[in-house]
Amino acid sequence: MKIKISIILAAFVTALSACNTAVNNKNEAKMTDNVFFHEFDTPYGVPPFDKIKNSDYLPAFKEAVKRQKAEIEAIVNNSEAPDFHNTVEALEYSGAMLDRVSNVFFNLLSSNTNDTMQKIAEEVSPMVTALSDEIYMNDKLFQRVKKVYETADTSAMNSEQKMLLKKTYKTFVRGGANLGEGDKEKLKEINKKLSVLKLKFGNNVLAATNKYKLVIDNKADLSGLPQSVIDAAAEEAANAGMKGKWVFTVQKPSMIPFLTYSDKRNLREQILTAYTTRCNHNDSLDNKDIVKQIVNLRLEKAKLLGYKTYAAYVLEENMAKTPQKVNELIDNILSRSIPKAKKEAAALHDLALDMGDNIEIKPWDWWYYTEKLRKKEYDLSEEDLKPYFKLENVRQGMFDVANKLYGLTFKINKQLPVMYPDAVAYEVYDGDKMIAVLYMDFFPRASKNAGAWMTAYRKQHRDQKGNNIIPVISLTTNFTKPTATEPSLLTWEEVTTLFHEFGHCLHGMLSNCTYRSLSGTDVPRDFVEMPSQFMENFAAEPQVLKSYAKHWKTGESIPDALIEKMKKTSTFNKGFTVTEFVSAAALDMAWHTITAPFDGDVNAFEKEAMDKIGLIPQIIVRYRSTYYSHIFSGGYAAGYYSYLWTAVLDADAFGAFQETSIFDKNTAKSFRDNILSKGGTEDAETLWLRFRGREPKVDFYLKREGLE
Ligand SMILES: [Zn+2]
Repeated sequence: MKIKISIILAAFVTALSACNTAVNNKNEAKMTDNVFFHEFDTPYGVPPFDKIKNSDYLPAFKEAVKRQKAEIEAIVNNSEAPDFHNTVEALEYSGAMLDRVSNVFFNLLSSNTNDTMQKIAEEVSPMVTALSDEIYMNDKLFQRVKKVYETADTSAMNSEQKMLLKKTYKTFVRGGANLGEGDKEKLKEINKKLSVLKLKFGNNVLAATNKYKLVIDNKADLSGLPQSVIDAAAEEAANAGMKGKWVFTVQKPSMIPFLTYSDKRNLREQILTAYTTRCNHNDSLDNKDIVKQIVNLRLEKAKLLGYKTYAAYVLEENMAKTPQKVNELIDNILSRSIPKAKKEAAALHDLALDMGDNIEIKPWDWWYYTEKLRKKEYDLSEEDLKPYFKLENVRQGMFDVANKLYGLTFKINKQLPVMYPDAVAYEVYDGDKMIAVLYMDFFPRASKNAGAWMTAYRKQHRDQKGNNIIPVISLTTNFTKPTATEPSLLTWEEVTTLFHEFGHCLHGMLSNCTYRSLSGTDVPRDFVEMPSQFMENFAAEPQVLKSYAKHWKTGESIPDALIEKMKKTSTFNKGFTVTEFVSAAALDMAWHTITAPFDGDVNAFEKEAMDKIGLIPQIIVRYRSTYYSHIFSGGYAAGYYSYLWTAVLDADAFGAFQETSIFDKNTAKSFRDNILSKGGTEDAETLWLRFRGREPKVDFYLKREGLE
């Protein structure tokens, strides 16, 4: 199961999405030195990464805010009676410049940040939030939208127009448009505070992650580590100015191999403890007080808007609808995964005893003994597989799948500006027609957030003349860099991560919608991970594996015996992985179903929540509160469960291919036409029913995870 931060910023900027109206600024031509003041003068209108200066951002944001305010004024002061076109559509098309600068700035803030940009973010985030509030709390504007909502002849509208009308109206109401003046002010204050706190939370996590280094200067302390892991650590050390030593960090590509292979139990404990106590040391990077403030402000906001909890407020918009339904699914899955995890812990304990290690299994032992057990039972280690997963081969395999399913082809374009020198730009074709630009940016750097994600520098949409504007999509990961002696070889988890993010990219690239705010991945939280997780199924399919998994030295395809072993191991350790992950969903729900302000101890709250679900001591929740960026600095508050929800959907969607054949043309066409191209232009349930012909079932999921 892949847990990826994706499109976390999209929600933030799309509320302000747009193109342009008659009030377009006339003095554009004078401001030529700032790239954001114009449409980008580049092939396909991609961002001119090579020309952007830090000093462009702030003036651009200020100007963009000014322009959108003028556009809103024009809508409000329109003397004609409000109708769909002059009000709802005009609002959708406002804010073109803000969209342009926000997309570039916030995407680069995640993938290539610096101190200046972080400072700018602290200034512009409240500014952009305040503008959004100003729009969605503008009573005159709301009254016009309301009038259209109540009186428009929807029988003359297509489904996309109807959705735009409904979503626009609901955005106002959920944003506080129906509140009295005093409460509106309160809400504005809350939103402003939240946006600053979320940024601070994320910055603290990044700083704490970069701060810790496990420095090894004694060769004996490398015991158990494979040569490739040692080489990477030596390079990490050299980069940090410690040539001749070895450095491990709490970035997962560095830490997980260490936990998996190091024979040094005390060092495993040290690095995992450093990871799990990030921002929990009562120092300047501590996030406990921020957690408290965030959950309390969110509760206050929910109550102000008439909801019992923040989760109730969030879930109303999702496929799940209520906290109760989410908790039911969580409990259902944990009731199957925790007993399995207990059995796994017992097996690890037995194995440790067999090896002469008379110990209680602790969290820092889990990866280590699991790897030994995997080796013993299946004789399959990550190192056996990695030579077959050369990054370039996996990427080609992924492109081939997209070709077989949807007829897409990918062509490198070295002329396009890139966000960082080792990123690569592709032109994406459907037959002869170019439909998207796709960036891939694979390797870690200090200026990049951890994890992997897809994002859009420009979403697919149609402009006001009806011209199709192709999307500019980006896929970002933190894979192990090639070394002097080896190419980038992926772990199996990284292979599926790549397919996963590519699934999001396809959702963005195959979008065929009119309105930007409804296109691509702008779908409910608990639906957006379905197309991505769906792609992971293909990575593991034997006929697909054989085509891309080729030994990087010999070119030989992965042997059947290895595929067979992979299949057997696919449900291995699932008690742990499912429990670790679903417990994080439970923690998210616990924080966001509080009904009274929280003033207790953050660690104690977390422990109580984990005791309540019966989490066993050998497993630490996948994200502890102080570094749970998904929910405290990203867009997944009361939404982390959505990975599980969509896992049920993705298994069931792939089931449709298993029932026919995995590259079945009709099924692929139906998936593209009914799901991938539709964005959020219709209800997720409707799209699902049209594709699958029935309600989702959990059977394929339980079978895949070995939890039947
Ligand atoms: Zn994802």
